[in-house]
Amino acid sequence: MPKQRYDLVVIGAGPGGYQAAIRASQLGMKTAVVEKDGPLGGTCLNVGCIPSKALLESSELYAQAREGLAVHGIGVAGVELDLARMMARKTDVVDGLTRGVLGLMKKNKIDVWHGRARIAAAPPAGAASSAAAPGAAAAASGIVEVRGENDGELETPRILIATGSVPIGLPHMPFDGKRILSSTEALALETVPARMLVVGGGAIGLELGSVWARLGSKVRIVELMDQIVPGADRRSAQLLERSLRKQGIEILLESRAVSADVASKAVKVTIEGKDGKQTTESYDVVLVAVGRRAFQEGLGLAEAGVATDERGRITVGAHFETSVPGIFAIGDVVAGAMLAHKASEEGIACVERMAGIAGHVNYQAIPSVVYTWPELASVGLGEEAAKAAGYDVRIGTFPFTATPRARCTGETEGAVRIIADKATDTVLGIHIVGANASELIAEAAVAIEFGATSEDIARSVHAHPTLAEALKEAALGVDGRSIHI
Ligand code: FAD
Ligand code: NAD
Repeated sequence: MPKQRYDLVVIGAGPGGYQAAIRASQLGMKTAVVEKDGPLGGTCLNVGCIPSKALLESSELYAQAREGLAVHGIGVAGVELDLARMMARKTDVVDGLTRGVLGLMKKNKIDVWHGRARIAAAPPAGAASSAAAPGAAAAASGIVEVRGENDGELETPRILIATGSVPIGLPHMPFDGKRILSSTEALALETVPARMLVVGGGAIGLELGSVWARLGSKVRIVELMDQIVPGADRRSAQLLERSLRKQGIEILLESRAVSADVASKAVKVTIEGKDGKQTTESYDVVLVAVGRRAFQEGLGLAEAGVATDERGRITVGAHFETSVPGIFAIGDVVAGAMLAHKASEEGIACVERMAGIAGHVNYQAIPSVVYTWPELASVGLGEEAAKAAGYDVRIGTFPFTATPRARCTGETEGAVRIIADKATDTVLGIHIVGANASELIAEAAVAIEFGATSEDIARSVHAHPTLAEALKEAALGVDGRSIHI
C-alpha cells in the first residue's frame, strides 16, 4: 500500500475542494485531493451548474429562433431541434472544464488520488497547529485511506472534507432514473417528454422545468410553499412566477404530489392542492427537485469523532474546524446555502486560516441566481427577511420596461428592488428579476460587501443605455427620486 505524506489532504474535488487545494498549494502546502468519481469538478461541473447552464443557453436559443425573433423582423423557417447534438455540446462543455480542473491540479503540483477516501485515523491533538508553517510536515499525523483506481494511505496533520451533497428523494416516489428523475437524469434525457411534472419550485425545478418547457414539454410545477423560490424576496419571486406562467409553465402553489404509480410508459401522479382536493394525471416523467442533503457516507466520521447535526451536515466552528481538531469541512456538506461560490469561498478562507491568514466569508454578500428567463438574482435580505430582522425599511423599485436598453433588446420583463435600512440608508438587499440579472447582481454584491448606502449607488455613474441603469434608478427610488418613472 503506497504511503504519502502531505500538509493537507482534501476529500472531494468539487468547487469547494479543488479551489481550496489550489489556494493551499499557493500558500506552500504539499496538498493532495481525493476524488471518488472520475472527472474532477464535483456536482457543479459534472451534473449541476455547468450542464444546466449549457442546456439553459441552448434551449433559450431554440425558443428564440422559434418564437422570439419575429418581433425583430427576422423570419426563421424550418427551425428544428437536434436534441442529441444539444446534449453532445453540453457534454463537450463539461468535459472541457473538468479537464481544465485536472490541468490546474497539475500546474499547482497537487497530487490527485482517484478513489474513495475514509478517515482511518484523526490527526492527533495539536498536529495541525504544530505544523502551522506551510510546508513543514508534522511528525504526528492522521491517516486518510484511499480505495479505488488508486489505493493509498495519506498521512497528514490536516484533513479538509468537501464531499458535497446528493439529491433528496421522496419516500412515496423514489428515484428510478427512468420515470422518476433527479436533476442528474433530467440533464440527460434522450427525447423531449410530452408531459413533465416537476416536484419542487426551487432553483433546480425552475431551471430544468424551463429547459424542457422551451424544448416542447408541457411542464407543471408543484410547490409546497405559497411562493416559488421560498425564502426569496416575495415580490421578486412573484414577478418571476408571472413571467414563467406567461411562457406556458403551469405552477401549483401550496400543493404536493402525494402518490405516484409508475407504469412502463407513464407515471400517474396524484396531486393535493391547497383546498385538499386531489387530482390524478399521467406524465411521461417526474423530476423530483425538493432539495439536496449533505453527503458524508463512508468517510468514517463517527469513528473519527466528527460531529454532525440532525440533517447529517458536518458541524463546524467559525474557522470551519469540526469537533475534531485538524479536521475541517466546507461547502454543501456543512450548513448554509448550497451554492458553488459559497463552497469555494469557504474552502479558500479555510485554508488561509490554516496558513495564519485572516480568511473570511461574508455570508450577507453571497449572491444567488435562478437562471430562468428572466433570471432572478438576489444578494442580502429580502423585504420580508429584513422586516423580520427588525429593520424599518425603505424600498426602491424600478421596472425594466422603463429602461431604454431593455426596450432595445425587447427584454422588458422584471424589475430591480433595493431594500435599504431607513435609519442609515445602508443597502440590506438587492433583488433583480430580468434579463442578465446574473451579471447585474455583481454590482449589488460589491455594494453590500463595501457597506454601501442606496445614495452611493444612486451617485455612481452608470453607462447609458445599459440594463444596469435600472439599479441606479431603483437606488434613486429608495429616496423617491427615480427619473424615469
Ligand atoms: P460537490 O460539488 O458536490 O463535490 C463534492 C465531491 O466530493 C464530489 O465530486 C464527490 O464525488 C466527492 N466525494 C464525496 N465523498 C467522497 C469520498 N469519500 N472520497 C472521495 N471523494 C468524495 N450552484 C451554483 O452556485 N450555481 C448554479 O448555477 C448551480 N446550479 C446547480 C444545478 C444543479 C442541477 C445542481 C444539482 C446543483 C447546482 N448548484 C449550483 C449547486 C452546486 O453544484 C453545489 O453547491 C456545489 O457543487 C457544492 O460544491 P462542493 O464542493 O461542496 O461539493
Ligand atoms: P431548493 O431547496 O432550492 O428547492 C426545493 C423546493 O422544493 C422548495 O421550494 C421546497 O419548498 C419544495 N418542496 C420540498 N418538498 C416538497 C414536496 N414534497 N412537494 C412539493 N414541493 C416541495 O432545492 P433544489 O431546487 O432541489 O436545489 C438543491 C440545491 O441546489 C439548492 O440548495 C440550490 O441552491 C442548489 N442549486 C442552485 C442553483 C443555482 O444557484 N442557480 C441551481 C440549482 C440548484
